[in-house]
Amino acid sequence: MLKKLFKNVLCCIICSVLVSGIICFIFLKGSNKAEITGDTGYSVKLNGNASKADNEKVKYSSDENKNTGADKKCLGIYSKNQKYLILANRDNPLPKDYSLSLRYICNGRLQASEYLYDSLVKMLADAKTEGYSYWIASAYRSYEKQQSLVDEDVNICMGRGMAYEAALEEVYKETMPAGCSEHQTGLALDILCSGNTNMDVSQMEEPGNKWLRNNCYKYGFILRYPEDKSNITGVNFEPWHFRYVGKEAAKYIMKNKLTLEEFYKKLGNI
Ligand SMILES: [Zn+2]
Repeated sequence: MLKKLFKNVLCCIICSVLVSGIICFIFLKGSNKAEITGDTGYSVKLNGNASKADNEKVKYSSDENKNTGADKKCLGIYSKNQKYLILANRDNPLPKDYSLSLRYICNGRLQASEYLYDSLVKMLADAKTEGYSYWIASAYRSYEKQQSLVDEDVNICMGRGMAYEAALEEVYKETMPAGCSEHQTGLALDILCSGNTNMDVSQMEEPGNKWLRNNCYKYGFILRYPEDKSNITGVNFEPWHFRYVGKEAAKYIMKNKLTLEEFYKKLGNI
């Protein structure tokens, strides 16, 4: 009798141990689920089966994502000056809803973004004290204006006997399609020297142009299409075309001899 009772108690103990073991196993399996948040702010979920090595692998790949070649200095400049740094080129047309605040310049003859107004006035005033004066040939151009420039040139080519498609292709070699011109941002200016208003490479021989190229960054402007970078910008050397990007970005871009495209490349995947 005592032996039977002992046998039953032993059986109960073994059963209890087994049941609590199973409960513990299930609980621990659940608590292994963890969530880690990377520096980039996104979270990575690890499931309960992940080993330590797996966790390290996930952490490593989250760091890898963080460092997609982005240059910290460029990112810092970009985050503070984003509104001045919009990129417009053949591969990056402006958004359809791109809007800007314009201000009259050159005694009401032209309009440009209000962002550059004060800097332009200061730059031209300082140049004047050095003995240089300029003729601003072009500033803001609307989408429609750019399209009409393209149409005009296409008509000229077609007048010479070219078919429409061929004429358009020819025109796009020199003229940006509507939506892709920097002038539509209101941040670009074609600045010619008063003594030579030819919009060609002869500008670079002018002391006034040299002064602009050397000093524009102090006022937030860059030479947008440098001589040796046409393979990157897709535009031939234009010593007259200056682009406002804000003082901080201009200093960085000009000192490091970059184009806006190269600056963007340094930002990584933004
Ligand atoms: Zn221009």
